[in-house]
Amino acid sequence: MMKNLPKIFISLFLITLISACATNLAGRRQVILVSEDSAIDASKQAYITTLDAYDKKGQLDKDPAMVKRVNQITAKLIKQAMILRPASQNWEWSVKVIDEPETINAWCMAGGKMAIYTGLINKLSATDDEIAQVMGHEISHALANHTAERMSVAMASDMAVKLYNSTIGDATGTTSLASAAAQVAITLPNSRASESEADEIGIEIAAKAGYNPNAAVTLWQKMAQASGSGGLEFLSTHPAPGNREKALNNLIPKMMKFYQAAR
Ligand SMILES: [Zn+2]
Repeated sequence: MMKNLPKIFISLFLITLISACATNLAGRRQVILVSEDSAIDASKQAYITTLDAYDKKGQLDKDPAMVKRVNQITAKLIKQAMILRPASQNWEWSVKVIDEPETINAWCMAGGKMAIYTGLINKLSATDDEIAQVMGHEISHALANHTAERMSVAMASDMAVKLYNSTIGDATGTTSLASAAAQVAITLPNSRASESEADEIGIEIAAKAGYNPNAAVTLWQKMAQASGSGGLEFLSTHPAPGNREKALNNLIPKMMKFYQAAR
């Protein structure tokens, strides 16, 4: 019936979501079409829709030992995130392990809805410290409201509308244009400015949670080494700021103090 959303509907939808220029956790001004509250709300549904597809294929939380390991690491990170940004105490945090051995990826939607793929853990032989760095980085994208920025891109470029239209009448599909945008958002690249912010916030959260800051450097080195073997969704959505390794190395002395204090 509704093959294409009327333009007027889309405009009204965008207007209702428009928020004034926001300033994020890193102090950067963001131009966003989607308020953070809307992004968090939409991500709840997007998370369910995304995970349901894996659950139906039997790919969700298959290995109890790995699930326990990931949960223990992220619990410590969440504790630090809540201290750094008290508003996140109200988030409904969640993490799932997706069994996809060839996929090197992890993400965190607005409001703390996370997933990590078995390919990232196994193909990189990731240590606890490295898992903490990758999830700390992902959590930081959510803390710094980067999801809302990527959702804005998804909506402005029609990608969300296309996904929404393609699922109309599909009982398992997306339930709103906003949740379609949240689904598309995790497949879009972050800006390099966002990457630098997530690197800085992520290494701090991980250090304060008791995870070695040197692992931030080895993590990206392993990612680089793995590129070429395929399945590197993570690198395509997290473009490297030119000086990533140098910038991380510069942060390590300060982070070691947090890390040692936490140990
Ligand atoms: Zn990133």
